[in-house]
Order: sequence, then structure tokens, then C-alpha cells
Amino acid sequence: MRPSLPSGVLEVLEPATAAVLQEIPRADASEVDRAVARAAAAFSAWRAVSPSDRAMLLRRISDTVTDHLEELAQLEARNAGKPIGDARGEMGMVAQVFSYYSGSPERLLGDTIPVTGGQAFTVREPLGVVGLIVPWNFPLTIAAWKMGPALAAGNTVVLKPAELTPLTAVRFAELAVEAGLPEGVLNVVVGPGSVCGARLVEHPDVAKIAFTGSTEVGRSIAAGAAQTIKRVTLELGGKSPNIVFADADLAAAAAAAPGAVFGNAGQDCCARSRILVQRPAMDAFMAELERAVTAIQVGDPLDDATEMGPLISAGHRESVAAFVDDGAPVAFRGSAPDGPGFWFAPTVLCPVDPDDRAAREEIFGPVAVVIGFEDEEEAVRMANDTMYGLSGSIWSGDGGRALRVARALDAGVLSINSNTSVRVATPFGGFKQSGYGRELGPHALDAYTEVKSIFFATGV
Ligand code: NAD
Repeated sequence: MRPSLPSGVLEVLEPATAAVLQEIPRADASEVDRAVARAAAAFSAWRAVSPSDRAMLLRRISDTVTDHLEELAQLEARNAGKPIGDARGEMGMVAQVFSYYSGSPERLLGDTIPVTGGQAFTVREPLGVVGLIVPWNFPLTIAAWKMGPALAAGNTVVLKPAELTPLTAVRFAELAVEAGLPEGVLNVVVGPGSVCGARLVEHPDVAKIAFTGSTEVGRSIAAGAAQTIKRVTLELGGKSPNIVFADADLAAAAAAAPGAVFGNAGQDCCARSRILVQRPAMDAFMAELERAVTAIQVGDPLDDATEMGPLISAGHRESVAAFVDDGAPVAFRGSAPDGPGFWFAPTVLCPVDPDDRAAREEIFGPVAVVIGFEDEEEAVRMANDTMYGLSGSIWSGDGGRALRVARALDAGVLSINSNTSVRVATPFGGFKQSGYGRELGPHALDAYTEVKSIFFATGV
């Protein structure tokens, strides 16, 4: 047992070793109040920065992230336990997000609307101080999806990273100031969600909360934000289907399926954790899938060859393991290292009843279920039989069918003969209890601006 820490200190662990990586100060509600005050004080000057200067600043932030890509990737890989190759890709995306939204300040266009007696037109105004609350699975990437459009639109920001993975957010804020972002425009507060996150949600001077995290916490944020009629964007959980028709390229579908559910050790809101396979293809698909799953390299996140790292914490490993108890129908498993660290081998469960807990709940770990279906109608019904609606894949050689199914699925982000969900230029977000609002692409700016209508009387 470690000696207990002073309440103002946060121990940040390295999931691959379970050792302490850093100790940093832990904020409380009064620190949130100070951060909101700093952001509020910086707002009027930041919104007044000319669009071209704001664009240039965002480009400089993008370049600065690129210059520090390896440093940030190492920090993220160690703190979140993710493979270094993935972490480099994620930091590349952070730079790309700022580069993409550097095009926005000069393109926040309005409409002119024909009316009688004058001219009506619309402008887009920033909201003010926005509170960003993010999870531990893609710490800086998800923060960037929010910071990019928020800052581009002229808002100031208070960012609350997850307690388990605050390090890249803290470093990013320093780099942004080095790149020229004025003091007070971006503020990072590291502390518990129930204290610091909750204070941001209730704070009267915060205009909007953009939240990514669990559906359960999302519900409490929506309820809390209602008290001050805050704008809210919610990116929540998922239980996404990967539908494989018998006429698909089965080798390609099976080779890609592990990456779609075991990537980031399954700690991915878009994880295709329900693999639905048309029955005539089941045996061939399972044989290919077993080969792919047992070949996954699970190990040290800092080794270039690693494809999957540990889970984020001991507590989370326990909750994942509860889905693979003694009676679980394990079809096959990959490997995982012994020793310290929060390791869990990639696991495929089959046969599984669609009503089983493993088939219905978000596991958020490297556990997939495989379920058979008869025809297109049953595939759509099973895929939609969930409270979630974030993402999904359709594998078929029949383009018409693939498009019909994509249109019939109640989910925000779908891919055909591919498992990708996220691109900087395309909108991302959920249907049903996976949340509301869209991030990324041109649509994200709608979530960080208000439309104002102005009428200028010219006389009749
Ligand atoms: P979480 O909901 O426990 O925490 C997310 C963030 O909310 C953290 O910063 C946490 O400190 C904060 N928080 C916790 N309680 C709070 C409260 N009462 N008020 C305000 N803030 C509070 O989620 P997590 O365990 O960090 O992440 C895993 C979840 O995130 C999964 O359900 C996953 O599906 C979801 N997720 C969704 C997306 C998406 O884009 N849809 C992306 C990644 C993760």
C-alpha cells in the first residue's frame, strides 16, 4: 500500500507498469472558478482578433504540435498505455484538426435574406466561455476536436481532461501559448469530474459544455446544464455493429475486424464490438478471425511492433473481466503479457445470445461478440436493437444492399467495406443515447456559434 497523498496531489499512473508517471496538483472547484474568470476576461479581446490573425494563430498551433509530435506521442503512449504508432497517428490528427479549422475564421459565412423595408442578414457570434470535458481513451485528440472549432469561432476555453490522462492537455496548453495564443484563452483544469466537471456544468458564466464520455455521466451533464440553459454537445457510448454479409470479401472483413474492436485495447466509443455474420459465412469467417486475433501483438506501448497495449486502470480491467467469467462462451483469445500493468488478452465470445449482457452493454475493452443472422432484414433489426447509435460497418459485395443497410441503420457514422469512423473533414456524432451534436468537419462550428439575425431598415 502506498502512503496516502495530500488531497491536493494527483498521482498519474503508467498503465503498462502500474507505476507512478507523474504527480501533479489536483484542482478543486475554486480553481475552476478562477479558470472561468480568466477565460471570461480574455473573451472580448480574443473575439476581436481579426479573422486572418486568428487563422494564422491556429496554423501556428498546428505547426507547433507537429514540431513536438514525438514528445507528445511518447507522453500520450505512456500515460494512456496506447501503442506508440497509434499515439503518433493521434498527434498527427491533433495538428490536422488545427490546420483544418484555421480555414474557419475567414469562412464563418452568413446569409442575406430578402424582406420588405430593408435588408436582413445573419452573422455567427461566438458563445463566450466554453467548458470542454473529455475522457481518457483519446485524451488530446478528443480535446482537439473541441478546441479547434471552439477557438476558431472566437470562444475562450476551460478544458477539463480526465484525471487518469491529463498530461498531454497540460503540455499542449503550454505549447499553444508558445505558438502565440494569448494568455487566458485556453485554460486547463485537472481535477475530479464530480467536482471540477460538475462545477463547470453549473457555472453561470460558462455558455456551453462539450462533453465526451459515458452515457451515464452525459445524462447528468444534460440535466445539470438545463439549470442555466447551457448549450450542450454530448458524444457518448456505443455498442456498434460490424455486419458481414456472406457475399463480402470475407478475408478482408475478418482481417480488418480485430483492429475495429481491439484497437486502443477496445477502449474506443466506435469499437465494432458486435460482429454480426450471415450464417452461411460463419465458419469461414471465424477461421480467418481466429488467425487474425491470435496474431495481434500485445505488449509494451513504446515498442514500435506493438498493436495493443494494456487497459487504462486496475478498476477498469476488473469491469472488463466481469464480462468474461468462468461460464463465458470464449471462442478464442489472443495473448497478453504477465506481470505488472493492466493487461487483458483480446477475447472473442461465440455463440452469444443477442440478449446477453456482453451483447448489449458497452464493455469498453478487448472483448467482441459474434452473432449469426439470416438475411438483410434480420441484420438491420439486430443492429438497431440497442439504445446506442454511434457507428457501424457493412461488408458486402452488393453495393445496393450495402447502401440500403447504411440508410436503415440508426447510427451517426457508418462505413462500407471499411471500419473507419473518424476523419477531420467529416461530421462525427451519435444517434439515440450515443449523444447529440456533431464534431469535426464543417458541422462542428454550428456547435460553437450562435446565429444572429440583423435587420437594417432602408425605408420603403
Ligand atoms: P466518464 O463519463 O467517466 O468521464 C468523462 C469525463 O467526464 C472525465 O473528464 C470525467 O472526469 C468527467 N466527469 C465525470 N463525472 C462528471 C460529472 N458528474 N460532471 C462533469 N464531468 C464529469 O467517461 P470515461 O470513463 O472517461 O470514458 C469512457 C466513456 O467515454 C465510454 O462510455 C465511451 O464510449 C465514451 N466515449 C465516447 C466518445 C464519443 O465520441 N462518442 C469518444 C470517446 C469515449
